[in-house]
Amino acid sequence: MTTPLRGHCTCGKVAYQIDRMPLFTHCCHCRWCQRETGSAFVLNALVEAEAFTVTRGAPVDVDTPSESGNGQVIARCPDCHVALWSVYSGAGPKFRFLRVGTLENPDLCPPDIHIYTASKQPWVILPEGIPAMPEYYRRSEQWPAESLARRERVLAAG
Ligand SMILES: [Zn+2]
Ligand SMILES: [Zn+2]
Repeated sequence: MTTPLRGHCTCGKVAYQIDRMPLFTHCCHCRWCQRETGSAFVLNALVEAEAFTVTRGAPVDVDTPSESGNGQVIARCPDCHVALWSVYSGAGPKFRFLRVGTLENPDLCPPDIHIYTASKQPWVILPEGIPAMPEYYRRSEQWPAESLARRERVLAAG
């Protein structure tokens, strides 16, 4: 894969790049993601915050409730308000959940897992061969070893 990957909001005032391929990409079918996107699911690619560079403009952080009750901060363009990524209190500020659809080529980050399929909209047909979980999952059972090691490195960096 060729990094960096670049992305931007709809009006183009905020642009970013990531210098690494995502650790893991979630396709989340929970009701909260359905509401936030106005769609059937969200595609969130987990990337180390340190791999991000904002190359144009400055996103604004919007506090948003999350199903866990701990909340998330969604980085949005100050003008068109498109959501670019989220920081969840659960995962902490060292990781961002990038909205894959904001990438210039979102085809590069297909889902590694489908989660919260218990509330999947019934017309969505899941592909064979990709793990699908009724709720969340155990990272140690699903992430590739390289991604687990990258995560540990970031956490150990203090
Ligand atoms: Zn914008
Ligand atoms: Zn969700």
